[in-house]
Amino acid sequence: MKALILDGYVDEPSCLGVPPYVSPYPRFIYGMLRSAKIDAFYTTIDAFREDRVLKEKIRDFDFLFIIAGIAVPGNYIGGKPLGKKELFSLNLARRNVLVGPIYLELEKKDITALEDSGIEVIGFPFEMALCEALHLPFDFEKYLLAGAEVVSQHPWFPNLICEIETYRGCYWAKCSFCIERFQSPFFRDPENVVREIKALYDVGVRHFRIGKQTDFFSYLADFSFDVPKPNPEKIKNFHRAIWASCPKIKTLHLDNVNPKTIAEHRDEAKEVIKTIVIYQTPGNVAAFGLESADERVIRKNTLCATAEEVMIAIELINRYGKAVGYNGLPYFLPGINFVIGLKGETKETFEANFDFLQEVMNRNLLLRRINIRQVKIFRGTPMEKEGYTRLMKHKRYFYAFKNRVREEIDNKMLRKILPKGRRITDLHVEIEGKISFARQIATYPILVGLIGNYKRGSFVDARVVDHGFRSVTAVEVPLRVNTATLEQLEALAGKKAVEILKRRPFKTMEEIKQIFADAEIFFTLHNSRE
Ligand code: SF4
Repeated sequence: MKALILDGYVDEPSCLGVPPYVSPYPRFIYGMLRSAKIDAFYTTIDAFREDRVLKEKIRDFDFLFIIAGIAVPGNYIGGKPLGKKELFSLNLARRNVLVGPIYLELEKKDITALEDSGIEVIGFPFEMALCEALHLPFDFEKYLLAGAEVVSQHPWFPNLICEIETYRGCYWAKCSFCIERFQSPFFRDPENVVREIKALYDVGVRHFRIGKQTDFFSYLADFSFDVPKPNPEKIKNFHRAIWASCPKIKTLHLDNVNPKTIAEHRDEAKEVIKTIVIYQTPGNVAAFGLESADERVIRKNTLCATAEEVMIAIELINRYGKAVGYNGLPYFLPGINFVIGLKGETKETFEANFDFLQEVMNRNLLLRRINIRQVKIFRGTPMEKEGYTRLMKHKRYFYAFKNRVREEIDNKMLRKILPKGRRITDLHVEIEGKISFARQIATYPILVGLIGNYKRGSFVDARVVDHGFRSVTAVEVPLRVNTATLEQLEALAGKKAVEILKRRPFKTMEEIKQIFADAEIFFTLHNSRE
């Protein structure tokens, strides 16, 4: 028997699976199949679209497992998620199963149509239900371990970042729009999490994000409090165990922090922040859900944290995390999310949101990322009744707010976080061109436009030369002076570029120094990147 796992990618409030990310879902399914002695093959939807042979051969498979669902849509550079229309156009295997958060956005008529076309739709979360549907025993930890090797079949391997799950559910679970209410809480033993990281590490993965939980500070916390009290000692031991098993990790980041946990338990949170700064890698971001700074919206949507609590959390993370690390990024900074279109939103809500950001600027605090998204409504959430009416009505406020934030906040913030001249390392080229686009393999990586044509998949170190709203332009350093383009030379040496160009080729650094005093910092005489 053989099965194909088609990864159409997921993006949930607490899980990302768009390349370079790999979610735990294909790993679980692969492990489940291998444990049942079924041959399993994995592909991403992007690779599948290009593979005419596989598209036809799909009919020869006994099983097709499709993973899909973009619950919190973003702009993706690394891949194009599987769409609903595309789903209906797939050739099918003998048995076909659809899993993932897509279940929550499908209407009943879509589910019926899919089932009529031969695709079984499994509810969300799917793991236990999938095992039941296939009459296989459910063993979450065993399957995740057995499934680690599937990442070697990913087209981006080894330049991947594996999303790691620590627990499910949310201690609040009341925000009107959020799908976390559908997750039954369960917590993974830290030893199992470390074992899973080690299994992926042994396959060759070096980048990890402990991102699949709603609040990293609540992991291993004391849940006898209304707001769980973080346990700094356990969190430190957890990190030590990761490094003891996997000493050559290149990226260890996290995602999702509930600012209320930090504001409520500041002493414990402070210690956890220090552990994150010491034991995780620079460029780390704690994504906070502020959602709205308007008290009325907070009340009407039973949002978790108040604007004051979020400000406290932003301050505390800045205090310990804003120093710059070896890869050019601050060690650990907060990011915040806004959701537009919630109940009770008015024109004044946008003012309150902007004032909050202005206050962050006035206090000279850093935010690594400001995410402004329009609400997406799911069946079974309180927002279902509200619908998209307010969002539609407020479209122009939404765009005006977004533009204002990009122009008046984002750009200024980016200039503080990555000033001109800052060296950023290990940029992974994802798009080739006259200007190539690269990012670090990291949580919420900043997009870098690299002047020059670089091969997709290569790694480059560069210095920042200019800023966009949310991206920077950079030039490779050290730059090969004898082969660099005029654009690259200009970006690094300004007006001296033409003279450098005319006097090429250079044989010694001294010759360049006669034109450009800082030559040693920016240039190399070597003609290859080796
Ligand atoms: S705090 Fe609210 S938005 Fe965040 S995970 Fe919980 S329910 Fe969802």
